Amino acid sequence: MTDNRDFAALASDRRVDQLFDGIGRRFEYLRLSLTDVCNFRCTYCLPDGYKKPCSRPTELSADEVRRIVTAFARLGLWKVRLTGGEPTLRRDFDEIARTVANVPGIRRVAMTTNGYRLAEKAAAWRAAGISAINVSVDSLDPARFAEITGHDRLRQVLAGIDAAQAAGFDSVKLNAVLMRGINDRELEAMVDFVSSRDLSLRFIEVMRTNDNAEFFAERHVTGQSVIDRLQALGWSRLPRQAGAGPAVEFGHEHAKGRIGIIAPYSKDFCSSCNRLRVSSLGKLHLCLFGDAGINLRPLLQDDDAGDELIERIRKLTATKAPAHRLHQGNSGATPHLASIGG
Ligand code: SAM
Repeated sequence: MTDNRDFAALASDRRVDQLFDGIGRRFEYLRLSLTDVCNFRCTYCLPDGYKKPCSRPTELSADEVRRIVTAFARLGLWKVRLTGGEPTLRRDFDEIARTVANVPGIRRVAMTTNGYRLAEKAAAWRAAGISAINVSVDSLDPARFAEITGHDRLRQVLAGIDAAQAAGFDSVKLNAVLMRGINDRELEAMVDFVSSRDLSLRFIEVMRTNDNAEFFAERHVTGQSVIDRLQALGWSRLPRQAGAGPAVEFGHEHAKGRIGIIAPYSKDFCSSCNRLRVSSLGKLHLCLFGDAGINLRPLLQDDDAGDELIERIRKLTATKAPAHRLHQGNSGATPHLASIGG
């Protein structure tokens, strides 16, 4: 067995075009936030809506995005997820999607959206090179959807999901955060929804951030209780795929769709973490619940800084903490997930 020191050496070895941290986790997947602005007001994230600060640096430009993605691709990352905030609020979203899809080495561009423009834009985003899409749908009941998100737009979002399927995305997934006393009784309805459709559903355990501690205490539903309910409905755990991230997958012999559970409070969740994040201001976040991000932006100003950027990413990644500190009630520096990119 290789010990941690060997992995640290591997992580800093210039000849290896793969990215490892100090405990041997390999990174092939970058989550890139394009903006921290969101137009929805989800109760667990931005219940009072996005508040514009008095002064705010501009978001990464398409050129800066190209440079950062190129650096990660040279380190062996091949999948990028565009997220936010709501990434599709960016006017240059289509251009950025195309830019990322054209970076040599990038084989899969995914996005996460609240779906408010999906019905009209699905075909254009597919044509821009996005092949996988996650859409947040926390309720299938229009009134409850409006209560959770602050927008009466369920019909529009569901039409977007149909449009995404028609546009030929390889993967269309629904993200749902289950909350005690709000939408947890909808689990069965959501399971039915994906049982008859070629869609995947991800139940995400609500996570405690610095802004939602009280909400979390009142509304948190454990991943294990969701698993128990799925098993009672006849769903069974699927074997873990090589290189899979922290989601635990379930299938059912009579269901077309699949279900995954993202349960960050479960034991060993972090051991399969394959995620690195870059914020819309160019900060590298080694963990969603880590301390403040590390600013890479000065190295994104021209194409020549590529080697230095790569070296910096490699060295920083080697220092990624083995696990988050959520169990100690420590959400790091994260006010809400829109600030880093959920
Ligand atoms: N605006 C996009 C959307 O609505 O999907 C992308 C950004 S959003 C931050 C990404 C995902 O994070 C969504 O599925 C959302 O439900 C989830 N999320 C946000 N805050 C969360 C929290 N505190 N706990 C669990 N999931 C959260």
